[in-house]
Amino acid sequence: MRWEDLTGDQFEQAVAASQGVCLVPLSCIERHGHHAPLGTDMFIARAVCERAAQLEPVIIFPDFIFTQILEARHCIGTIAIQPELILQLLENICREIARNGMKKIVLVNAHGGNQSLLPFFLQSQLASQRDYVVYLTAEPKFATDHAGLTETSALLAIRPDLIHMAQVPSDGEGAPRQRLAHLAAQGILTGIWWYADHPTHYAGEALGATAEGGEAMLNQAAVGLANAIRTIKADATAKALQDAFYATTQHQ
Ligand SMILES: [Zn+2]
Repeated sequence: MRWEDLTGDQFEQAVAASQGVCLVPLSCIERHGHHAPLGTDMFIARAVCERAAQLEPVIIFPDFIFTQILEARHCIGTIAIQPELILQLLENICREIARNGMKKIVLVNAHGGNQSLLPFFLQSQLASQRDYVVYLTAEPKFATDHAGLTETSALLAIRPDLIHMAQVPSDGEGAPRQRLAHLAAQGILTGIWWYADHPTHYAGEALGATAEGGEAMLNQAAVGLANAIRTIKADATAKALQDAFYATTQHQ
């Protein structure tokens, strides 16, 4: 059930049917090589959530595209939000979801650039008391490239009209350039690492992508997410521990 599709009258029933679980599909708008749309991650997050909702009743929050993508600011078409504002927006929407009756909020991430943001956001839940729990599901295994074989296959399954296979480069543009290999060799990281490897925001190899492959990967991800939703519906421990934790943070 997509949040925005429901009428106000239907909403309360939908909250009950979802047992208070709400998925938040997280993505961003950024360049995906020469051949894939700026909204590639948005389409994938939406598809995985919608397919999972077919298997297990759940409410899906509207596409949340305002996540971490500062490293693509040099590419036209990118929508990069300031880091402090991203955290505030995430916090704000979680409070809105909870205020509307859903106390189990599940972040479903389809954008690799959020891998440090989201665990930090979870940790920040401990800063002040709240009556809901935020869960982060494992990222779909297939979304490990960027406009490469898996994302391109997924888009061929979801929106083939937006994929331009003739524009896929044949010169190995998707291979990492390793311009910071001398730092990486000693485990040293900087914020410019992605730009160092993939300045054109193409990582992997899209040649060979197929809609059938995309279908299979999306369905596999949906089954995994549906299982996670069932586990989260049954979970009472995280909330109990969170409440106990908040209670013991008051030293008066
Ligand atoms: Zn992507």
